[in-house]
Amino acid sequence: MFIEPNLGLPDIHGNGGTGWIEVICGSMFSGKTEELIRRLNRAYIAKQKVEIFKPSTDKRYHESDVVSHNQQTIRSTPVQFASDILLLAGDCQVVGIDEAQFFDAEITRVVNTLANSGKRVVLAGLDMDYTGKPFYPMTELMAIADFVTKTHAICVKCGSIAAYSFRLTKSEEQVLLGEKDVYEARCRKCFNQGMKPTKTRL
Ligand code: ZN
Repeated sequence: MFIEPNLGLPDIHGNGGTGWIEVICGSMFSGKTEELIRRLNRAYIAKQKVEIFKPSTDKRYHESDVVSHNQQTIRSTPVQFASDILLLAGDCQVVGIDEAQFFDAEITRVVNTLANSGKRVVLAGLDMDYTGKPFYPMTELMAIADFVTKTHAICVKCGSIAAYSFRLTKSEEQVLLGEKDVYEARCRKCFNQGMKPTKTRL
């Protein structure tokens, strides 16, 4: 049985202006965005000033909302470049960033700069692409983070804990936006079985 660890995350900002970076990562359908929304809502309740950003490339749901698979929403600002976040963060105390894997390489410097200026930065993103390779720049963000949380989905084949996003189509683009029509969550074993070259892909 999988037991969610008690992470002891510091929810409340304001201990002498120290900033930090939290990364929430995992496969598709693992609840990354739900966890991001949960943490940011707690910051709202604590009456902290929160700004949320997402890459403008991800328009699957609503243009200016961060929407999770279970339809929880929170207002956000779509931005084209990572450096836009520095310009728009202003004097907020908490910066939320969803779909961080779609940002350009500048995101690492941007996030460090925000944390160094005393802000709490909470990012969510895919840790691996559909081939199981680490998803840049999430790799760097996980390295510079003060806290990393890995969320898991459930394997649709066998019910085990799933860490992989298995692509159901033949496209070989690293970025192919889609939902359950394009991806399914799989455990290591079922993912590897699906990736065997002899297997006929849908
Ligand atoms: Zn499985």
